[in-house]
Amino acid sequence: MSEFDFDLFVIGGGSGGVRAARIAASHGAKVGLAEEYRYGGTCVIRGCVPKKLFVYASKFSEEFEDAEGFGWAVGERSFSWRQLIAAKDKEISRLEGIYRNNLEKTGVECFDSRAEFEDAHTLRLTATGQTITAKHILIATGGSANLDQKIPGIEHAITSNEAFHLEELPETVMVVGGGYIAVEFAGIFNGLGAETHLMYRKDVILNGFDMDLRHAVHEEVAKKGVDILTEDVPAAIAKRPDGRLEVTSQRGKTYVVDQLMYAIGRRPNTEGLGLEKAGVAMKKNGAVVVDTASRTNVEHIFAVGDVTDRVALTPVAIREGHAVADTLFGNNAWIVDHSLIATAVFSQPELGTVGLTQEQALNVTPNLDIYRAKFRPMKHTLTGRDEKMLMKIIVNADNDKVLGVHLMGPDSGELAQTLGICLQMGATKADFDRTVAVHPTAAEELVTMRSPSEELRG
Ligand SMILES: Cc1cc2nc3c(=O)[nH]c(=O)nc-3n(C[C@H](O)[C@H](O)[C@H](O)COP(=O)(O)OP(=O)(O)OC[C@H]3O[C@@H](n4cnc5c(N)ncnc54)[C@H](O)[C@@H]3O)c2cc1C
Repeated sequence: MSEFDFDLFVIGGGSGGVRAARIAASHGAKVGLAEEYRYGGTCVIRGCVPKKLFVYASKFSEEFEDAEGFGWAVGERSFSWRQLIAAKDKEISRLEGIYRNNLEKTGVECFDSRAEFEDAHTLRLTATGQTITAKHILIATGGSANLDQKIPGIEHAITSNEAFHLEELPETVMVVGGGYIAVEFAGIFNGLGAETHLMYRKDVILNGFDMDLRHAVHEEVAKKGVDILTEDVPAAIAKRPDGRLEVTSQRGKTYVVDQLMYAIGRRPNTEGLGLEKAGVAMKKNGAVVVDTASRTNVEHIFAVGDVTDRVALTPVAIREGHAVADTLFGNNAWIVDHSLIATAVFSQPELGTVGLTQEQALNVTPNLDIYRAKFRPMKHTLTGRDEKMLMKIIVNADNDKVLGVHLMGPDSGELAQTLGICLQMGATKADFDRTVAVHPTAAEELVTMRSPSEELRG
């Protein structure tokens, strides 16, 4: 009989926590999990999944317009925000049920409560006051959206959390931020017909991505009608008698909008978690400090996913959770490789990227061959839409290895997944070159770019 109630107790039923709990239980461990809100976590409830459903919804406006180029006469169109929200909510509830079911099916005991540390082996469930002890504890509490609390009137602003539950589609909206969530939501609101402003403190959106890609998507997003306001931030927000918001920017401009959504980054969920009682070290921003095996400074306490502020993406949290469970209970210790993570941005147009940006590749070698193709996708030859697709391959000229691929255009996210496999396998440009093209596709450009657009030599 163990001296603890559980072999593993997981705090947080999101991407990382659920995977770790299920895998640990399948290895025979006695596992408990506490979730304070809804099972599935950010990704399922108010992140990737509802966001992608909104992106699908918002693309129809262009599809209807484009259809005319192919001979279709599209009749009168109308859009019901309420119908979209209801359909989305139904799907999210279905998924949440699956998450909870799968946990219970594998034998994980679920507690619908917030959990907080009492000491390094003891947690208190705030819903009931019950205390629970565990031999190992996994912190998988994720992150939450930030509002800039210094701005007067910030209480009138919303984050992505509320955007998923608005009663009405705003006629005019301002999104603040330039990261992927901000850019995706600007595309969603714009596509659904709202007059959309995107205010960003820097000069080009999507900081951290390859510069060519950033410039290209900045241009295309603006062409689609999003009013991108750069090098500016809100300075004050006031609610008018008619309920609309007046946003005064640091540059002294005034905008009147129905909704103001902040997407300026997320912070790790460690506030009030009692980590100090357990002796778990945190970074300045509240992120839990972990080693490559996701172990904290306290031997039996682990942390995975957004709460560790490493790579804040669902598949990464899932892998980290899986690795911890296999390592502790599966007699199979492994660590997650955080390099070469393919990722997509569901902006409009979409981005797909894997590997190093040009700026990062220059830290590997000064000798790079850059292959770049910017072209109009075939579909738009008949629609007449002025939209470009970009493909960029970054090659290490010393050994021909492909260091990064960056794409903008339809289905770039899908392509990035496959390219991730190629780069994981160590593909060289010669491998790309001897691959027969698939015709007619946009992707064939990836294997037909023969001469570098640029040869950088150190
Ligand atoms: C709008 C948006 C769009 C996104 N789109 C994408 C995308 O397209 N692709 C992608 O890969 N990633 C995307 N992400 C990021 C992705 O959602 C996260 O990286 C992922 O959910 C992290 O998983 P996690 O397990 O670390 O945390 P989470 O999924 O956030 O789960 C943490 C859970 O812990 C619970 N919790 C917190 N504290 C406690 C406590 N003390 N006790 C009990 N429960 C607690 C929370 O309620 C939550 O359910 C998006 C995020 C957002 C916000």
